[in-house]
Amino acid sequence: MLDSNVEGVEQSVSTGSLPGWEQVDSLVVASHTRNRACQDGAVADYIPVLAQADPELFGVCVVEVDGGVHLAGDADVEFSIQSISKAFVYALVCEEFGHAAVADLVGVNNTGLAFNSVIAIELNDGHPMNPMVNAGALATTALMPGATPDEQWNAIRKGLSAFAGRELELDQEVYRSEAATNTRNRAIARLLESYGRINRDPLEAVDVYTKQCSLRVSARDLAIMGATLADGGVNPVTGQSVVSAEVCRDTLAILAANGLYERSGEWLFEIGLPGKSGVSGGLLTVSPGKAGIGAFSPRLDPAGNSVRGQQATAYLSRVLGLNIFASQAYAPSERSTNVH
Ligand code: GLN
Repeated sequence: MLDSNVEGVEQSVSTGSLPGWEQVDSLVVASHTRNRACQDGAVADYIPVLAQADPELFGVCVVEVDGGVHLAGDADVEFSIQSISKAFVYALVCEEFGHAAVADLVGVNNTGLAFNSVIAIELNDGHPMNPMVNAGALATTALMPGATPDEQWNAIRKGLSAFAGRELELDQEVYRSEAATNTRNRAIARLLESYGRINRDPLEAVDVYTKQCSLRVSARDLAIMGATLADGGVNPVTGQSVVSAEVCRDTLAILAANGLYERSGEWLFEIGLPGKSGVSGGLLTVSPGKAGIGAFSPRLDPAGNSVRGQQATAYLSRVLGLNIFASQAYAPSERSTNVH
């Protein structure tokens, strides 16, 4: 790992503020209206039940760090969280074991390959690489505290519910459909076991992971969960402190590098924010210090990322001034008063 040599240095944050309430409200509606007609992409079908999703559903929600909620379209329709769960299970594990241990055990670097790649594991001597691909997510789930798989699952459900600010439920139909067909994830877990990278029974880890992916959320839930990561770990709706500010920072860095799999570079280039997608069409984006954005639209690009979700988020990033890499030239009037 890079030694950033900042131990003992006082931390400060780099944030700004959102436009006023009315403006955010109308821009969230506009992000939905502008992209509603797009039919690009295809609904995932490798998990049989997901193929039945209504492709027309489309919801967007922004939750500000003061708890304010802005909604458009099907923002309260529930779907399975899928890979977006990886971000929050990572945060819970990081809270438990800390920055360095998790970086070492699971990794932080992009594979450049698909989310369920086996070759990525082989190319990296059995290292899972990062917690947002299936290999790293399985290794991360296996690290969750708990003496039994049931205890681990309960801790995950409780933790993700705290991020959402309400009790999240397991979608039994999605769980059963994925559990009956997830041979590839079982193979990945076995491969990790062969490299000594998983510290539990691999098939039990797959089962807990499959359950975490089957938790039901809405775009509003995702926005609240994202707003919690944007708010130093405090859920802005319930006021509960869920994880530390340091864990939020680490989680968001991992999302920026890996949240949209092999498309993470393109995403960062266009949107400039940490994000995480899931194959049922959910998309979570975080604007640190400002807001969480939740989007839902089941048609996906070839990497498995919601097409309209990305479009709506790209629009919001621009019009709300969220891109963390964007700056404006320092105003000359201010420059003259600041003589060094
Ligand atoms: N449960 C899914 C899987 O493991 C999650 C994948 C995803 O959302 N990209 O295949």
